[in-house]
Amino acid sequence: MNKILNNTSPMFGQDVLIASSTAQRGLSEQAISPVQALDWYKQGWLTGAIHHPSPNFNARPDDVAIDLLVIHSISLPPDQFSSEDVIAFFQNRLDCSKDPFYAHLQGVTVSAHFFIQREGTIVQFVSTLDRAWHAGISAFKGRENCNDVSIGIELEGCDTMPFTEAQYHTLATLMHFLMQAYPGITRDRVVSHAEIALPPGRKTDPGPYFDWNHLWNVYEKR
Ligand SMILES: [Zn+2]
Repeated sequence: MNKILNNTSPMFGQDVLIASSTAQRGLSEQAISPVQALDWYKQGWLTGAIHHPSPNFNARPDDVAIDLLVIHSISLPPDQFSSEDVIAFFQNRLDCSKDPFYAHLQGVTVSAHFFIQREGTIVQFVSTLDRAWHAGISAFKGRENCNDVSIGIELEGCDTMPFTEAQYHTLATLMHFLMQAYPGITRDRVVSHAEIALPPGRKTDPGPYFDWNHLWNVYEKR
């Protein structure tokens, strides 16, 4: 999420965002041929994901390498999982009269590259070639403006409930594809939004219920 949202919703350290789709396609390595797995990133749109393009992006700076993966969480309304609202939010078409909390979201323009719903379905909003607006004011190892060099993945979740097994499996598979396509994304460059957000403490996501050890176990066994 960007700084505007953070400024207007100080009570929520997790990201307030995203969506769902009626489609039930999940992402699996079996569903993607080796050729697709090698070639998808040339256009920046992942085969096997549901594509819901967002206008909330711009070009990456010239001559930067994509070498950072940022993990987020979001739920709309907070602590509820109505994915369609997240998708609508990232596409600037959320009806902000639907829920009192949504008044905070009026006029907020944010996005992420990917959104993994509770059942493991993956939605893509922005080409990985472009710069999605997910990290806001941020720095990692002295490099500021993490949106310039990163790919942002939102998990549908919150600070009060565990994530689903389907989400861990989809995330591990997606990470595998991204780390193949962008070798600069090494294991130590897969980070939480909370870790890079400035000032420190501005963000909590993906939150205390995100199990990093479990993620890497799933990744190793996928
Ligand atoms: Zn976030």
